[in-house]
Amino acid sequence: MLTYSYRVKDGNVANKLNQLARATNFVWNYCNETSFNAIKQRGKFLSKYDFRPLTKGASKELPINSQTIQAISDEYVTRRKQFKKIKLKWRGRKSLGWIPFNGQTIKIVNDVVIYDGIKIRFWKHRELLGNIKTGSFCQDSRGRWYVNFQCEVIDKRPHGERKIGIDLGLKDKAICSDGIKYDRENLTKKYEVRLAKYQRAHKKKQVKNLHAKIKNKRKDFSHKVSNEICSTSEIVIVGDISASKLAKTRMAKSVLDAGWSQLTTMLHYKAIRHGMVVKKVSEKWSTQTCSYCGVIPESAPKGISALGVRNWKCSECEAIHDRDINAARNIFNFGAGRCAPTGSLSLQ
Ligand SMILES: [Zn+2]
Repeated sequence: MLTYSYRVKDGNVANKLNQLARATNFVWNYCNETSFNAIKQRGKFLSKYDFRPLTKGASKELPINSQTIQAISDEYVTRRKQFKKIKLKWRGRKSLGWIPFNGQTIKIVNDVVIYDGIKIRFWKHRELLGNIKTGSFCQDSRGRWYVNFQCEVIDKRPHGERKIGIDLGLKDKAICSDGIKYDRENLTKKYEVRLAKYQRAHKKKQVKNLHAKIKNKRKDFSHKVSNEICSTSEIVIVGDISASKLAKTRMAKSVLDAGWSQLTTMLHYKAIRHGMVVKKVSEKWSTQTCSYCGVIPESAPKGISALGVRNWKCSECEAIHDRDINAARNIFNFGAGRCAPTGSLSLQ
């Protein structure tokens, strides 16, 4: 399943969408209350099918069609199971607008989606592939509307032959065992001053916009890198770095900026599309171990004080290492056992 997201040209339809979103909230809250009561009074968890007769006829009273009402109650049941809660959050005025739909109930003609007779234009920056199963209109914190389509895609994409380990780092964002480094500027640092300025001046809108911009840039980078890695590799081993653990230390800002978990998540789902393998392994000892002879030598960079060490020489076998590439090679070795990684090791 793939999700495509497009910005809606909401000038003319925003009012209509807002109205639909209010009706959606109404149905959602009804499902929430009904489900909660059923659990409390009868110990019964309502299924998707239990909701059908309960919501029947509601479309006559509300400005949304019965298929959408069904999509809402279906989504409610899925989410309640997913979060394992007996009651979910109430959707009110402050909730961001959301209208789910079933793939069969909409039609797409060029850059227009026809929903319940309403023509909604959107910026079609890329082609849709596959069958639309479900989708939704949703609003971001700036009040802009987007349309999402969840598609079932059958197309397989090719992969390359690289067999690599990846060390996720702060300086270069992703370092591969074959020496290729994917880097991007530190966005938090770049916009720090401007952000602080807006915050001091209480310019709420600008603060929101800047946050959105940083988020988009980070996501863009993760997409680009994961696409490239997945299309050029056969086996990828990623170090399982606990970002949440590191985020508590003084390096927090740059750790969060690196967006590691986003990149790993993308690698995992894109791997399926490309028919290649992505594996996670513990990255413990990957920095200290010599990837050439496999021991942890005296000369290895150890502890916080050695964070600045970029190059080192193994005191056992005299191999010279780039700190991050060595770590990436170890990660590969930990995960893949005996297969040889791409990029030959050389004694310098
Ligand atoms: Zn060595």
